[in-house]
Amino acid sequence: MTKKCDKYESLFIFADEETLNKHLQECEDCRREHEKMHKVSALVKEAEPELKRRAAFFNSLKVACVLFLFITGGVFFQTFAPMQLNNSNATMTASISSDMSFDYEDSIIADMGLPTDDYGLLMLD
Ligand SMILES: [Zn+2]
Repeated sequence: MTKKCDKYESLFIFADEETLNKHLQECEDCRREHEKMHKVSALVKEAEPELKRRAAFFNSLKVACVLFLFITGGVFFQTFAPMQLNNSNATMTASISSDMSFDYEDSIIADMGLPTDDYGLLMLD
């Protein structure tokens, strides 16, 4: 009964090239293991450009998704968020709209009975 040699991994990782090659010449199991490693390595090298191309594609897809979310999110908040404020909190909406728009009719100066110009500012002669 022969036990399969399990030195290949440790020799591959820890030993120098010469020690590994010397053992490979003596040991059939490790030679087979070494050939398998070469095949896998060749496959990885063959697939590398395709993998990089896919990674680049997925990265650009991610960027496109983030941009799409920013744009749709902005549109959503511009169209639906004020409606929600209208429905849920009327006073909040009133304060926001008065902050955001200039209502020249409600000029404080005009309310005080002072002469104002078209912009609701105090008019001096
Ligand atoms: Zn071996």
